[in-house]
Amino acid sequence: METVWTIELTQQLSALWQEGFSTAEIGRRLGISKNAVVGKAHRLFLTPRPSPVKRAPIKIVEFSGPTCSWPYGHPGEKTFHFCDERPMSGKPYCAEHAALAYIKPKSQNSNAA
Ligand SMILES: [Zn+2]
Repeated sequence: METVWTIELTQQLSALWQEGFSTAEIGRRLGISKNAVVGKAHRLFLTPRPSPVKRAPIKIVEFSGPTCSWPYGHPGEKTFHFCDERPMSGKPYCAEHAALAYIKPKSQNSNAA
């Protein structure tokens, strides 16, 4: 027999799914087959539930005022950080890095000739 997904039943499935119950357990509680739970859940929740074990750590960047946003290293590396000098007013970089950031790349044209 095909499961009739009323709004109530869908909401109950959603609640149990979010709480982390297995599809078999949800089926038992709602009185429907596990397959019905799986099929509906896949249609409702396109992304699988985040595993509590493999959850990626949330990176919190503390921002304590305007600082130069010149990056040192490469994003993702342990040593990656931003220059924390005070930026020039209206610029994202300190005086030293603003000079580097806004310099005209003259040397790049040397191959054209
Ligand atoms: Zn800087």
